[in-house]
Amino acid sequence: MNDNLKSDLMEKIVALCKRRGFIYPGSEIYGGLTGTWDYGPLGALLKKNIKDEWWKSTVQLRDDVVGVDAAIMMNSAVWQKSGHLEAFTDPLVECKICHQRFRADKEDEIREHEKTHKEKVGWTSPQKFNLLVKAYLGIIEGEQSEIFLRGEITQGVFVNFENVVSSTRVKIPFGIAQMGKAFRNEITPGNFTFRSREFEQMELEFFIKPIEAEGNKWFEYWKNQRIKWYQDLGIKKENLRFRKHEEKEKAHYAKVAEDIEYEAPFGWSEFEGIHHRGDFDLSAHNLSYVDEDGNKFTPWVIETSGGVDRSLLFFLLDAYHEDGNRVVLKLHPKLAPYKVAVFPLLANKEDLVSEARKIYKTLQQDMMVAWDDRGNIGKRYFAQDEAGTPFCVTVDFQTLDDKTVTVRDRDTAKQERIAIEKLKNYFSEKLK
Ligand code: ATP
Repeated sequence: MNDNLKSDLMEKIVALCKRRGFIYPGSEIYGGLTGTWDYGPLGALLKKNIKDEWWKSTVQLRDDVVGVDAAIMMNSAVWQKSGHLEAFTDPLVECKICHQRFRADKEDEIREHEKTHKEKVGWTSPQKFNLLVKAYLGIIEGEQSEIFLRGEITQGVFVNFENVVSSTRVKIPFGIAQMGKAFRNEITPGNFTFRSREFEQMELEFFIKPIEAEGNKWFEYWKNQRIKWYQDLGIKKENLRFRKHEEKEKAHYAKVAEDIEYEAPFGWSEFEGIHHRGDFDLSAHNLSYVDEDGNKFTPWVIETSGGVDRSLLFFLLDAYHEDGNRVVLKLHPKLAPYKVAVFPLLANKEDLVSEARKIYKTLQQDMMVAWDDRGNIGKRYFAQDEAGTPFCVTVDFQTLDDKTVTVRDRDTAKQERIAIEKLKNYFSEKLK
């Protein structure tokens, strides 16, 4: 990415997201709610496609992984046993000049803030700040119980470990996958959706025998699987890297931790963590496993913990291209919100509209299809390029004679004539 493009890329992405309906600020008409975001029509589709692809590769195509969907609200004992009440903290410091609060471990953010003051900045000493979000459950005021919204979705898997083992035929090594919302009282939400207070995770907990060699093998295996998944969906290799956690930054449950990072305009940033959690969680919940030979042990866990919102942001940043005055989102076809857009050349010609409508309705059986009959064809192409739609189909006067349409490719802007009856096969081939 060249430096000119990089410097204002975030602004362009934020503006594009709002303009085209990918992402809006949460509760915007009431002045917003810091750290929350709402996904619009295009964003909801993109998010769904990311989650579907993750589920397909992690659960559907594997014999050794099953999925669950656990409750967001959990008994507070879970968080006490898992160590989150005690240790799910970030170090908070306050600027002594303006009293703004920051995370002491985010040195770049601290340095950036110091530049905003002319005087030398003094900081309070770091205080542990717990990130769990509290809620109150129950109908009688005063008798409500305090609960915590889940700060990571992981615990929903661990508390169901025995249920899954006894209700399915899984045998170690095996994994339990889950996607869903998590909530954190982040000290410094920011960089658009990158650090939010409500976000979605996609996680795999993979249970293995508690042997060092097994731990290393599966840790490396999952690292490679996960980085390959992002590359296969189009993120450029040079924008991805692994970064191993230093001892002092490791989460309370982690034996080893490495992040997959993306080179965002605001610097290399984590969007998935690969963690060797050892037997930390199952031991904490007093859970174990009995193998076919009757041996009882506490399995170790290799975890892959990705953020749906951060991936989505990075897929957008990586796909953003400018080609003259054309903005193109070169999203992988599997992720593109709409796969095809169908246009009648002229909106006021009955025959063209009805032919285009037929094609639109037929294609809709298999995929998300956009319809546009406003303005001229050039404008419609531009609008679809910005939305990341891989193909546009135009029904013109020739269509009425020979039953062919123009298909235009988003990335090359090349057009070709395809017979209507061949469209379905054409797209199923091209959109793989
Ligand atoms: P960071 O230090 O950047 O806040 P983390 O190390 O606390 O992240 P993990 O607890 O490892 O993050 O969570 C796993 C994944 O969940 C992250 O890689 C990220 O994709 C996502 N995630 C975590 N916190 C947030 C957040 N506040 N907003 C959006 N996504 C998040």
